[in-house]
Amino acid sequence: MTIARVQAFPVRYPEPNNDGKVRSLCLVRIETTDGVVGWGEAITGGQAVSLATAFLVERHLAPVVMGRDERDVPVIWQAMRDATYWDGNGGIVTFGISAIDMALWDVSGRAAGLPVHALLSDRAPTPVPACASTILATGDLERIGDEFAGFVAQGYRMVKGGWGHDLSIAFGRDAARDLAVGRAVREAVGPGVAVILDVVALAGWDADHAITMCRALDETVGLYWFEDPLPEQDIAGYQALRAAVETRICTGEKGWHAVHFQALIDSGAVDVIMLDPAKAEGITGSWQVIRSAAAAGLAWNAHAWSSALDTAASLQLAAATDNTLLMELKPVASPMQDELVTNPIRQVDGWVQVPSGPGLGVEVDESVVRRYRFTEDDLDRSGVATA
Ligand SMILES: [Mg+2]
Repeated sequence: MTIARVQAFPVRYPEPNNDGKVRSLCLVRIETTDGVVGWGEAITGGQAVSLATAFLVERHLAPVVMGRDERDVPVIWQAMRDATYWDGNGGIVTFGISAIDMALWDVSGRAAGLPVHALLSDRAPTPVPACASTILATGDLERIGDEFAGFVAQGYRMVKGGWGHDLSIAFGRDAARDLAVGRAVREAVGPGVAVILDVVALAGWDADHAITMCRALDETVGLYWFEDPLPEQDIAGYQALRAAVETRICTGEKGWHAVHFQALIDSGAVDVIMLDPAKAEGITGSWQVIRSAAAAGLAWNAHAWSSALDTAASLQLAAATDNTLLMELKPVASPMQDELVTNPIRQVDGWVQVPSGPGLGVEVDESVVRRYRFTEDDLDRSGVATA
């Protein structure tokens, strides 16, 4: 049995967990000569990037994958890296490799009749604590209170908020507002719930401000971890922060490659290595990082705030290792989580089960892919994507 078909589908959808803002992804479908089908995702973000990734998958990477044995995923992964040694190394190429790799693991598991975690390790899967993860309504503390109280009412015992629907007033841009937002979250969830706060990208903090804010927030809110208070390349800043506070520090979600994550791991400045399988070279690349983090005694966390494919891939990785703390879920039903697959991943009483079916363990409804698919012709006439 060999890989017979590789197709890419740019999709866009309104994200209810982000005030209905349009997000876009690139989904990949792989089919073998025996008709086994697997799906993967690249968390591309911008619509033009989703379209470009789809083009690259079908025209540049598919020829590398076609005709190969579906069981040789790490070999195919390396072949894709070798074929893009010049034009890859992050960005659109790595999005494409990530989505193809995820789909290949889905195919491989389905062909073997096993969930992906069983192909990675012999660890028995255990339920993972579920964390309600959302964008903060930084301009409306009452709404924050209502939303976070609602998450606890749904059963969540861990919550995370970050950024902001309006990026001009996002979390991280104003110290007094940041503290007020943190207090509103804590008051809403009560004392027994783990709270994570996530600083908006490009907030521009330095180590001194990160230390001040981390101490203040941990004192007034109590933090399970503090996320992305500094730019990822500021390793020295993270080391200064880590030396000054007891709070768990998490970063990494923008990373593409094991070499980048290894620098974070070796820095001694990070407690939780964040990565996204739909960006960090798929399941094959992510698994390397997770094992490396585990060897250093560090936890990892899946970013995976995207489709059910990314969540399922993350849960398969979580099931294969002991250094997973939680799984972030979107607390409000979302098209790419709850419509895309016929067996959506949901928490019950604060826990999420690892899908036990073959492959990633989620079943894609292809009519939903067609419904949300978009093409270059669907972009604004100006040619500028709106998200
Ligand atoms: Mg984050």
